[in-house]
Amino acid sequence: MRKIVRVVPEKCNGCGICSVICPLKIVSMESGKAVVDEELCDGLGGCVKKCPQQAMILVDI
Ligand code: SF4
Repeated sequence: MRKIVRVVPEKCNGCGICSVICPLKIVSMESGKAVVDEELCDGLGGCVKKCPQQAMILVDI
């Protein structure tokens, strides 16, 4: 099991902060919402702390 970041689309306002700060550059913006590449996410969660909408959550997969 590992941790990854998942986006709650209903909360995301498309500000793009997570995409900019992700050190792995695996958060893209699609139709105004953040999308995490779950295969490549390392679950460190820096984006979770920075999201102004609390739209990113850490989950175990
Ligand atoms: S930081 Fe939060 S609100 Fe901004 S694009 Fe990312 S998930 Fe959406």
